[in-house]
This record gives sequence, structure tokens and C-alpha cells, in this order.
Amino acid sequence: MAEQPLIPPRGKVNLADYDPNYRGQWEREAARERVMALREELSVLQNKLYADGRHAVLIVLQAMDAGGKDGTIRSIFTGVSPQGVEVTSFKVPTEEERSHDFLWRIHKRVPRKGMIGVFNRSHYEDVLVVRVNGLVAESVWRKRYDQINEFEELLAESGTTILKFFLHISKDEQKKRFEERLADPGKHWKFSLGDLEVRKQWDLYMRAYEDVLEKCNRPYAPWHIVPANAKWYRDLVVMETLVKTLGGLPLRFPLAEAGIETVVIPD
Ligand code: AMP
Ligand code: MG
Repeated sequence: MAEQPLIPPRGKVNLADYDPNYRGQWEREAARERVMALREELSVLQNKLYADGRHAVLIVLQAMDAGGKDGTIRSIFTGVSPQGVEVTSFKVPTEEERSHDFLWRIHKRVPRKGMIGVFNRSHYEDVLVVRVNGLVAESVWRKRYDQINEFEELLAESGTTILKFFLHISKDEQKKRFEERLADPGKHWKFSLGDLEVRKQWDLYMRAYEDVLEKCNRPYAPWHIVPANAKWYRDLVVMETLVKTLGGLPLRFPLAEAGIETVVIPD
């Protein structure tokens, strides 16, 4: 089991107390092997979740740019049946999305029973980028923490298990990853000049994240702060948490049809 002393937070959250470089006693190779073993477990559990059809799982991924959201999704779901996983990436809202309440586009994408839904960014953008850039009045975004909690409680009470991960990288690590993107033409598409503007607002984002982690960390929808400077440790923590959560659900295969014991398949 990966040691996870950094999660989940309780009470006041100061992100400076959480080391993005933390990796417990783990070394890269051992962690990679463990992730491979867990991948097999995840594949079996996902198949059972799908067959059972009574529970849904929602994974929310949030991070600063280059924080590893895409890489985490690739790593965690390699080897899992694509039929049972639905990934949604939330971008700047379209005009249609903006003309509804902020949860409208989110609610439409939550996983149905039997499915694992993955949000690459989420409704939390509406209290992160929206807050930092003042895209709506403070009186509007302030209310959203409660609105989000109630929304997530509704999902939980409707059979959805919610796991939220904040992939925590340092500002130095982001610089390194941006430089890698600039140095590799195959990664240029991942870089936008706007990312530099967001980087300038780093401290404001950290304050906004701290509020999210503090106000929206509920037993029915816990936040996990994942030390994410080392990609292999990040993958290990997310994988362990997911497999443990799925393993804790009362999953069972549906009962066989009556009479199946005596069936002989004709030639
Ligand atoms: P990327 O993840 O690089 O594809 O970028 C998606 C962009 O969409 C990011 O700059 C987000 O800040 C932005 N975004 C996502 N959700 C919202 C939202 N609700 N309001 C404004 N911008 C958003
Ligand atoms: Mg980006």
C-alpha cells in the first residue's frame, strides 16, 4: 500500500504543507511494478462494476497546467475495457453551456450505473479559473461551494461513488514540463501562450485550490491531494485509491438465468 499521509485533508488546508515531491518509501521501479499488478485488479473490478450495474464511479481530476491529468488517465486506464470508461474534458464553456447554470453541462456527463466516469477538469473550474479571473461576481462564485456539495451529495445518494484528485505539482516542476513541451514539436499542441498568464497567477490559484479542498471535502466526495512531481508516484496513489475504493463496493455478478445449469450447447 502506498503511504498516503498527505490525504485526505481535514479542516484548514495550506498547500505549502503538502510536499509535491513526497514519495514515501517508494522507489520508481517498485512503484511501477505495483501499478502493473493493480492494473490487473482494476480490470477485474471494472468488469464486475459493469456487470453488476448498480453503482457508478466518478473520478474528478484537477491540476494546474502540465499537472499530469492526461498522463494519469492514460496510465490508470491502460488495460481497462474502453466500453466501461467515459472521459470528459471540460473546456471553456460554449455559448450554450454559458446560458445555463454552471452544473448543467456537468450533470449531463456524470456516469450512469455500471460506468466509471472521468472528469478531466470539472465543475471546480467554476470556483478556480472563474474566481481567479473574476469571470462572475464574487457573490455568485461564493455560493458555488455549497451548490457543488449539494450536487455531489445528490450524486452520491443516487449510487455514485465520487473520488476527487488534486494533482499537486510545484511551480518549478511546471516550468520543467513547459520547457519539455517547448523543446518537443510533438508536444507544442499542448502549450499555449495563455498558460504563461495562468502561471503568473500561481499563488492566486493555490488560494483558490485551498478553498476548494477545504470547503468541498466531504465524506461522500473526498478530495485527495496527490504528490505529483514524480509521475510514477502520482500514478501509484491514484491507482491504489481507485482499486481500494472499487474493492470496497459490494459488487456482485447478476444471478444466472434459471435453468442455465442444465444447458447443453447444440452442435
Ligand atoms: P486544456 O485543459 O488545456 O484543454 O484547457 C481547457 C481550458 O478551459 C483551461 O484553460 C480551463 O481553465 C478552461 N475552462 C474549463 N472550464 C472552464 C470554465 N467553467 N470557465 C472558464 N474556463 C474554463
Ligand atoms: Mg492546457
